[in-house]
Amino acid sequence: MVTERIYIEDKDHPKEAQLKKPAEILKNGGLVAFPTETVYGLGANALNEEAAKKIYAAKGRPSDNPLIAHIADFKDLPDLVLEVPEAGKKLMEAFWPGPLTLIFPKSRRVPYGTTGGLDTVAVRMPDHPVANALIRLAGVPIAAPSANTSGRPSPTTADHVCQDMNGKIEMIVDGGAVGIGVESTIIDVSGNEPMILRPGAITQEMASKVLGQEIRLDPAITSGPMSQEVKPKAPGMKYKHYAPKADLTLVEGEPEAVIGTINRLVKEKLSKGFQVGIICTEETKEHYHDGMIKSMGFRAKEETIAHNLYAVLREFDDLNADFIFSESFQDTHLGQAIMNRLTKAAGYHIIQTEKEKTL
Ligand code: AMP
Ligand code: MG
Repeated sequence: MVTERIYIEDKDHPKEAQLKKPAEILKNGGLVAFPTETVYGLGANALNEEAAKKIYAAKGRPSDNPLIAHIADFKDLPDLVLEVPEAGKKLMEAFWPGPLTLIFPKSRRVPYGTTGGLDTVAVRMPDHPVANALIRLAGVPIAAPSANTSGRPSPTTADHVCQDMNGKIEMIVDGGAVGIGVESTIIDVSGNEPMILRPGAITQEMASKVLGQEIRLDPAITSGPMSQEVKPKAPGMKYKHYAPKADLTLVEGEPEAVIGTINRLVKEKLSKGFQVGIICTEETKEHYHDGMIKSMGFRAKEETIAHNLYAVLREFDDLNADFIFSESFQDTHLGQAIMNRLTKAAGYHIIQTEKEKTL
């Protein structure tokens, strides 16, 4: 298959004429990658089981990992869900359109092929002019997981999508680099107690404020390596996602101790002839001298770290790094999403520089 790529010049005011063809492809059961404010999505008609199957094939995604249905207007929600619980209403009003996915009991219209056999459905209303215009034009809800090969870092530019999906999908809509850079927050409002299944740019603190009570994180995402006892409620969270090709290790602790440990580990690996990368920040980069040093952004501005995280992991893939050592981040606010993605990319390989700290 030849993958066509179209470029949207003004992503804030996409021309309808340009989006007609991708919308037509989506309507007819084909695959189109497009930008959202979180990461690039791989879109298909969410109500068409055959189209959803193509997503799993193109990504190499396990079929028990359900898809998120994307809508552009509130009026399109009732068709997909059995009910909208009170917590869901509050969160939708506060954060839609935006980087928040909500899990509802599903209606009969949503095929099990989209929900991985579950009786619930994940729905999001993105906040990106190209995504929203495309969904509207297609006239159907669009299932859109990240447009990467399963297990690789999510794509934040159309070039990333091209690296993974060229020849496998009908079209890539290039709307430039995305803004946020990590996938949406997922909150399950289908049960008795709302719960965060995946941290993202809508933070635990922000959701708690809107709900008027502390919202908990699914214990499975805070308990370290997935075990048999703690199964994550979002099936996708059990896979080793976001993985770079290199062996990634996170180093936690006081800044000075972290820098010292990383410098020592890098020297060790370099002396054995390995290609070694360092993931650091603008505040700390001058303290590193050996290996391939990449700053993700400003520690004091966590949104810059989230924005660059996946691109930096992909750059190290291109550089054929054997080992990467990364600084870590605080586990609150947006740092929660950053640490969630980094610890998974590292396969939970974390070094504590202070003995008294345990995982
Ligand atoms: P992605 O589409 O790659 O952003 O991944 C979607 C995430 O949403 C995966 O972790 C899925 O397991 C999760 N998800 C989608 N639908 C549901 C659902 N009905 N219940 C729980 N998690 C879901
Ligand atoms: Mg994904």
